[in-house]
Amino acid sequence: MDSSDISSHLQTLMFDLDDTLYSSKTGIGKALKRNVEDFLAEKFRISESEAQDMNRELFRTYGSSLAGLRDLGYDIHPDDYHSFVHGRVPYDLIKPDAELRNILQSIRQRKIIFTNSDRIHAMKALDRLGISDCFEKIICFETMNPGLWKPASMEHPVVLKPSMEAMRIAVDAADVDPRRTLFFDDNVKNIAAGKAVGLRTVLVGRATKSQEADYAMEMVTSMVQVIPEIWVGDDDKRISHARNEMDSVYAATTVVA
Ligand SMILES: [Mg+2]
Repeated sequence: MDSSDISSHLQTLMFDLDDTLYSSKTGIGKALKRNVEDFLAEKFRISESEAQDMNRELFRTYGSSLAGLRDLGYDIHPDDYHSFVHGRVPYDLIKPDAELRNILQSIRQRKIIFTNSDRIHAMKALDRLGISDCFEKIICFETMNPGLWKPASMEHPVVLKPSMEAMRIAVDAADVDPRRTLFFDDNVKNIAAGKAVGLRTVLVGRATKSQEADYAMEMVTSMVQVIPEIWVGDDDKRISHARNEMDSVYAATTVVA
């Protein structure tokens, strides 16, 4: 494919990580939740069920337990929190995904990760999937929260998706035109926030679209069938070239059920 094809109408694909690039059924999400509850139980010397209630309440009100605890005045360093919460995650539950790798490698547009998770977790998960070399950039917890590693860090509220600030930081850090960027995420609120900053949105993990989703798909690998435009340029020459590309993706990713 020559360089002119890169100027196709879609310039960038931006992907959430957890429950988007790998299935929510892996059990990683459950393990993370349990670790957060263990963190709260240890920190506040409360029972498991009290920690579960506290986590639920913090998540509902603040979007994350770390954001909530810091907003309530607890000086919890993000590195301590993340190393506790991610330190015991069974990463081997995430398996290499050759189909996803083939698809990502067939995409000529820029590809960027945009996750609320910290960089160490993101790298481990991407390594397990076998796709860490497929992305130009990782926009993550540290990108959105540089102030937390500076003096007087408690003056900085934790910034995460789906806040508008997080979305604007990501668009700036990625240096993208939102109208030419596809944003994949499994969270309906994140999809709504993405739409609000002008991104084209793909809800992953569900067959039906939410109000602000331009596309929906159960598995991210279905982008080949659901959004063939990714491989299609503005003229017929590109379309035929893209079809060949897609045919080779299909051939490479055919899975015997
Ligand atoms: Mg997610």
